[in-house]
Amino acid sequence: IIEVYAEPVFKSGTRTGTILVHRDITKEHEVDKMKSELVSTVSHELRTPLSSILGFTELMLERELKPARQEKYLQTIHKEANRLTNLINDFLDLQRMEANVQTYHKTSLDLKELVIQVVLRFEPNHPQHQFIIRDLANFTLVWADSDRMEQVLTNLISNAVKFSPEGGRIELVLTNKEDTLHVHVTDEGLGIPETELTKLFTKFHRIDNSDRRKIGGTGLGLPIAKEIMEAHSGRISVTSMLGEGSTFDISIPYEKQMSLLPISTIQPN
Ligand code: ADP
Repeated sequence: IIEVYAEPVFKSGTRTGTILVHRDITKEHEVDKMKSELVSTVSHELRTPLSSILGFTELMLERELKPARQEKYLQTIHKEANRLTNLINDFLDLQRMEANVQTYHKTSLDLKELVIQVVLRFEPNHPQHQFIIRDLANFTLVWADSDRMEQVLTNLISNAVKFSPEGGRIELVLTNKEDTLHVHVTDEGLGIPETELTKLFTKFHRIDNSDRRKIGGTGLGLPIAKEIMEAHSGRISVTSMLGEGSTFDISIPYEKQMSLLPISTIQPN
């Protein structure tokens, strides 16, 4: 998009010509469009849980309700308030990361231990899924922010659980490739249409069909995971077959440390 405006040129009081100024405003236009899309998505995402909270509290205030019904309404209110909290937290996280003001507390971290911890946390709450960890890596130490890596793993595993049937297997595989450590999270779930694959890491992008709409979420988990992996010089990618399942792959440079060699390989003087 080009904006053109005319600037008259005067010499000794008489107009001698015109300068045409061309300015490419495509970028500004795109930014404006993105901002207004964002505002409308955010307001929709905020309004939906809020109107349900308002509706149910009004019902409870206006009517004499049986305890069982009261409890059901309270549970809905609680669920919707939680959804709002998650949305706001995710949204603020992502804003901070995109503005490069997120601070990362990186330490030497054994990613294998973290994978095990996160899976142990999921297992009791999802007995209908089968979790498998396969460690095929020689080096599992990375330089990373433990809380943030936990956030990435939690998001990938919770998506794998959400979008796959009961009884489905969720497999986590650790491997080394050149200088990186990879963690693949594979599920046997709904899968993702090919046309959607590249859009998944865009804010608020949720695949729109009736199977998925009833599954809760903010559409911010994967963009946050991408920001976190990039802040660790790492990457995230996805492969999937519709109806068969998906594999999300994160990779991060591993730490090479002499001190980690087994004692027997260190030569005495
Ligand atoms: P959320 O899960 O909160 O909607 P995400 O950014 O984590 O947001 O995921 C965006 C969308 O990507 C989801 O709504 C879903 O449609 C799709 N998706 C993510 N992970 C999977 C998966 N393992 N299987 C199928 N679809 C997935």
